[in-house]
Amino acid sequence: MSQPILLQVEKLKVAYGGIQAVKGVSFEVREGELVSLIGANGAGKTTTLKAVTGLQSVADGDVKYLGRSIRGQGAWDLAKQGLVMVPEGRGTFTRMTIVENLQMGAYIRNDKAEIAADMERVFTFFPRLKERRDQLAGTMSGGEQQMLAMGRALMARPKVLLLDEPSMGLSPIMVDKIFEVVNEIHGQGVTILLVEQNASRALQLASRGYVMESGVVTMTGSGHELLADPKVRAAYLGE
Ligand code: ATP
Repeated sequence: MSQPILLQVEKLKVAYGGIQAVKGVSFEVREGELVSLIGANGAGKTTTLKAVTGLQSVADGDVKYLGRSIRGQGAWDLAKQGLVMVPEGRGTFTRMTIVENLQMGAYIRNDKAEIAADMERVFTFFPRLKERRDQLAGTMSGGEQQMLAMGRALMARPKVLLLDEPSMGLSPIMVDKIFEVVNEIHGQGVTILLVEQNASRALQLASRGYVMESGVVTMTGSGHELLADPKVRAAYLGE
């Protein structure tokens, strides 16, 4: 039996001025899934995520979370309801320490003992953050900042975690680490929507995937089906 749909995007349209970046995109994320949204640079993946989290206004269509329309709601309100995004470029608080950044992620909560336990859990995913707990975020490498951004999102106890290009600009070792942790977080029961240009890695982890091209969804299937598809292999896996 299928799990309930947590996030449903219906015929979403987003425009920048006169330019339509997203032209009627529909997809859903069910409880417990890891859904990957792949596509080339400029396909509209980031714009779609921004529209879902209220960072970009929606021209037409709808976004439903837990069965209710969230169109027009801001990122802060959505985070309180468990829909938490880790943006492209990470957005850590550079003049705060690692621990302070993580505490900011739990700002909406006041269960102190559980917050402390969750911070330890983040440190087990990312021991590097524990080693550098008092270091200013702005002095860390790109990979460490990605870890911190993901850790901060986890501190909000997401029901659905939205990850925008977590591997972008990272070294191969760091890319391995980030995907390993994405897989572990998913394994611990967090539902994930993963936007990635690294199609191979994103589809290997995915329960299901969607391919976006020029603002529309052109293909969908299980991660394995898409990985085996000759068109996907030719366009996104360099074959
Ligand atoms: P990337 O992997 O580079 O983030 P993407 O698939 O996420 O690519 P978007 O960033 O969503 O693609 O961009 C979709 C289209 O919208 C592109 O043609 C892009 O140039 C355009 N676009 C994105 N942001 C803006 C903006 N702020 N103003 C105008 N056009 C924009």
